[in-house]
Formats: sequence, structure tokens, C-alpha cells
Amino acid sequence: MPPSIPQFSQLRQWLAPATGDDVRAALTRKRLDIHDLAALLSPAAEQFLPEMAARSREITIQRFGRTTQIYAPLYLSNFCINRCAYCGFAAGNPIPRRKLTLDEAEAEAMILYERGFRHILLVSGEAPKTLGVDYLEAITLRLRDKFAALSIEVQPLDEDEYDRLFKAGITAVAVYQETYDRRVYDRVHLAGKKCDYDYRIDTPDRAGAAGYREIGIGALLGLADWRAEGLALGLHLQWLRKRFWQTSFTVSFPRLRPAAGAFEPLVTVSEKNLSQLMFSLRLFDPDVGLILSTREEARFRDGMLGLAPTRYSAGSCTAPGGYTSGEHDGEQFSIGDLRTMNEVCAMVAAKGFDPVCKDWDREFQV
Ligand code: SF4
Repeated sequence: MPPSIPQFSQLRQWLAPATGDDVRAALTRKRLDIHDLAALLSPAAEQFLPEMAARSREITIQRFGRTTQIYAPLYLSNFCINRCAYCGFAAGNPIPRRKLTLDEAEAEAMILYERGFRHILLVSGEAPKTLGVDYLEAITLRLRDKFAALSIEVQPLDEDEYDRLFKAGITAVAVYQETYDRRVYDRVHLAGKKCDYDYRIDTPDRAGAAGYREIGIGALLGLADWRAEGLALGLHLQWLRKRFWQTSFTVSFPRLRPAAGAFEPLVTVSEKNLSQLMFSLRLFDPDVGLILSTREEARFRDGMLGLAPTRYSAGSCTAPGGYTSGEHDGEQFSIGDLRTMNEVCAMVAAKGFDPVCKDWDREFQV
């Protein structure tokens, strides 16, 4: 059943009438509804950013403690049958293509293990005939005893496929809608299965039905009005929470980065805008995990620590085989924060927070 998210144009209308009084009211409420979220995302809230940051910090520390989860992506393959205008992996882009063998993927994972990572995100382009469920199951079985958390960010799968990978040892699924504006969605998804907006938006439901511990949703910022994307994310989250109350959820807010294909953002989303978006989601859903990846620069990530995000990637490479070779050829996008895991953990500790590499164990699973 698809989530009931109104048309993007309607979401924008919800944002328009918000006033300073609406923002003040939202800042004092314990439980926020979707109209409060609209007020916090609205232009009227911009003058309240310091108050929003303070409240967001208070809630974040109350719910998550003084901790920051640390993870790294492991790119398995950059083959992709889709043509997303904004992505370096898009079919047709003249980049060196590579799919890691299972031995190579395991070697990359062991480099991350030696660096101290216990949560890795397995990422690939969407090319099911090149890298399908058999491969994902096989690599999961090889890695499951080493890593406490194994997440996937791969092509959307059917429920029985999610079920198979869950049984193999995958703990979490991330699938981003990219944009909830259907018109923009159609404009930037030029070819391939990803053109099907409805199949994609149904994907978190299929993963939820398979019983995953955690599901991640997100919007790629730079495609459409970020305020309306924030409202759509809130509604999507609310929908998923009602259906899968035992599941944890995370939201990502990747901003577009330079990549092969030289796509230019369709809208500008500043660091200030991204901060407002993260504070708003934190106030709306105190328990949601918020991810701030190495797409963002070190200065911004350092400043946001403890204010809303709960999970940082570190020492990332977005090219398959990049941890072994040290090369970035064939990467999905360029990284903003180039620090190593140790450097990111040192920053987290210097700010009085604990960097957490493991917060889950398979033994907990019943
Ligand atoms: S965003 Fe994903 S599906 Fe689209 S081209 Fe890139 S890897 Fe392929």
C-alpha cells in the first residue's frame, strides 16, 4: 500500500501561511503534528534558528545520550542500468566500471574492520543482473560474524528478496526517494526501473514487512523545494511508524555533490537550510536517527555535532575497491569531509561525545 503523501504543490501550500506565532507554539509543544512541522520548515522559522537548535540539542541528548554512531560505506559495484541525471554512476557516464568479486569485497570490508568500523553500509549501483540478491546474500554470510550492523543501499527489492537478505544477516535497509516532487522525479530519472516513482516509494514498506531492525529514508537535496521535501519526509516517516512500530527509522539529507555528468543542482540548499531541516525533523520525531554523511564538509559536520544528527560516516570512499587501492576513479560523488575515522572520532570525543562503532549485536535479535 503506497504511503498517503499529498501532491508536492499541496505541501508547499501548507508551508506558506505559517507565522512566527506558529513557530513559537511548535517550539513549546511536547508532541508535534504535521502542521507544527510545516511551521518549523517555513521561512517564518528562520529567525528562530538559535531556539530550534537549542531545543533540538536538548531532545537529541535526552533520547540518544552524548553519543554519535560511526559507520562507513562499502561500494560493491558502480554498474547501473538507471540514468539518474544527478549521479556519477548513471548508465552512459564514461567512468571506469567495476564490480568487486566476493574476495575483493571481503578484503575491503576487512580494511574497514581493521580501522575499527563495526557498522558498514553495503552500496551498489542498481544493476540486478550484475549484482543481485545471490551476491548480496553471499557477501552478507561472509561478513555477518565480523560486523555488528550490515546495512544495504542497493536496488529496491521485492519482499521475498528482502526476507532472504534479512535471514542472511542484513540488519537495515536504506532507500531514498530522492525527491517527493513527482514532476521533478520524472525530469531527473531519465531511464531504467527507477523511473517508477510508486515502486520506489513502496520500497520501505516491503522492507518493513520483511522485519528489518532499521529502515532509512531520505531526499536528495538540490532537486526540489527543500521545505516541502522536509514535510514529505515527515509524512512518510509518520506513515511508516504507524505500520512498523517495532522498527527504527533514520532520515538522510544528502546534498548534491559534484559528480561525473556535471549535473547542476536545480535549487540551492545552504548549510543554514540543511540545519533548519534537521532541527525540524528532530523536533517532529524525537526518536528518529538523523544521518550527516561525509558529503558535508568537516567544518559543518563539527558544528552540527550534538545538535540533531546521531550518525556520521567517516573515512569514506565512494568508488568500488577504493579502500584497497586508495584510488577514487569511478566514484559516485566527491567527498566533502576527507578525514579518517580516527580524526572524526577524535573530533567527536573533543566535543564531549562518545563515538560509537557498535550499538547492536545479532544476539539481541529474537
Ligand atoms: S542514483 Fe542510484 S540508481 Fe541512479 S544512477 Fe546513481 S546508482 Fe544508479
